[in-house]
Amino acid sequence: MAKVLFINPVVREEDVPRHIPYGIALLAAIAQRDGHLVQVYDANAWRQGWDVLEQVCDADDWDVVAIGGLTTTYRYIKKACRIIRAKLPKVRLVAGGGFFTSMPLEIMEWMPQIDVGVVGEAFVTFPEILRKVDAGDFDFSNTLGVAYRNAQGKGVLTGVRPNIPDIDVLPWPAWDLFPLDEIYFKNSANLFSEEAFTSKRRIDVNGSFGCRMVCRYCWHLGTTGDMLIEKTDSGANDVVFTYGRNIRYHSPRYIVDMVKHLKQTYDIDYASFIDENLMTMDAASRGTWLKELCALWIAEGLQPTCRRDGVPHDEHCRGVHWNGTSHAGLHNLETLRIMHQAGCSHLVYGLESFDPLIMKNLGKGSNPQKNADSVDICLQSGIKPIPNIIIGFPEESFDSVRNTIVALKKLGITCKPHFATPYPGSEWYYTYKDSIIEQYDGNLEAFIEDLGDASKISAVICHKFSAMELLGLQQIVHQKDLRLLDQAEKHWATADQVTHPVAVPRQSFNFQRSTAATPLATTDEVAS
Ligand code: SF4
Repeated sequence: MAKVLFINPVVREEDVPRHIPYGIALLAAIAQRDGHLVQVYDANAWRQGWDVLEQVCDADDWDVVAIGGLTTTYRYIKKACRIIRAKLPKVRLVAGGGFFTSMPLEIMEWMPQIDVGVVGEAFVTFPEILRKVDAGDFDFSNTLGVAYRNAQGKGVLTGVRPNIPDIDVLPWPAWDLFPLDEIYFKNSANLFSEEAFTSKRRIDVNGSFGCRMVCRYCWHLGTTGDMLIEKTDSGANDVVFTYGRNIRYHSPRYIVDMVKHLKQTYDIDYASFIDENLMTMDAASRGTWLKELCALWIAEGLQPTCRRDGVPHDEHCRGVHWNGTSHAGLHNLETLRIMHQAGCSHLVYGLESFDPLIMKNLGKGSNPQKNADSVDICLQSGIKPIPNIIIGFPEESFDSVRNTIVALKKLGITCKPHFATPYPGSEWYYTYKDSIIEQYDGNLEAFIEDLGDASKISAVICHKFSAMELLGLQQIVHQKDLRLLDQAEKHWATADQVTHPVAVPRQSFNFQRSTAATPLATTDEVAS
């Protein structure tokens, strides 16, 4: 069986490591299930120098090194791949995750050390790669869902890998391969709610893959059935992202059994649902999923005692609190109250903007009124709503910023908005790719290396405002200062007549506004 080393790249260096990488932990469990010998070097958790990565490379006779993550890990992965290849010239270096799926051909060009990359969902593709490595067969040209190197060393994409239809077949992630007590439990607390802030042993869980909404800034990278592989004009395969969806969620039984296991094994006191959107999943189940989940959570003894007894949360509370993401247009008070009763402490709401035009164009299925109502409805349930606000939308104007500030003042929300950022894989990225490349002097890779968590400005997709103005507007929204906004608009005067749009939308092969979805696998395909 193959000796497999997974590497979790460093991400968000400005913050402590808070999240066990769910995808890597799941793939590690799948590889172990298949009998492979698995180790993890969690570079993000340990935050050690490059010399430690070299020592890890030397530590065993690895057959496969697997590395992957979101695009924001690109800088680390690039350097790590150089080191791995130098230390282990014969190892099969496999890449995957969002950074690879969003631009597989570019990554194969920028990182010549990678042998094969997994595009989209890896649950079937990665075990197939390991089986082939075990058999000494390194021809991946017939393996679906990969980019491999042809005889000339050029990256070639194979056909699309079908999504698995039933995600309950997945094992639980291999949490034991990660430094829980040393790193992750120490960083359990966050500021979003009292229960989250007092958490001492938090673990992330995932209940679903998908979301029916089509927010232009969001990316799913094949996990929602949104990805195809098609031929370009030159006859080469490339990824195409769509509005197609394969909505899949775990059964409440799977989730509750997993959390019970986490409680019994690691004594967790908090579970963070990293699902894209709990409410869109609930809507997909016609409003049954969350209610059943909460009922089972309570029936199986996971309900926090503070909620059971109707008393304030304190250090004597026992049970498992939790949080997730909600949607301003899809929640309702009845479900929220049940969720609160089961221990939900806070929900993140991507409110984004309070401007009608921006909300109409965003694809979120919400509007300023629903946004405003959502705060009140969520607070009534006892759950804390955590609003997320963005500025720098393509249509951003003085009026749209004003609408957002007026609403924030009315609702009593203070926030420092994020900047609209065209992350690879999102509709914005492909629509504005040419403008992004222009803004980075023709160097797309420089943009990828520059990406952070959208609290920092990178490529601008706003048609009216440049980075300089958006930085000022961010401050003005933060201070909710309508006087400064009025002054800025007065100064702007007739500037529209002489300024050039900062970003210009263009059609892209890589994004199709259609509902064509990734095929779903048959049971035989999943088993084989
Ligand atoms: S609702 Fe959330 S998860 Fe769904 S597309 Fe929009 S941003 Fe993405």
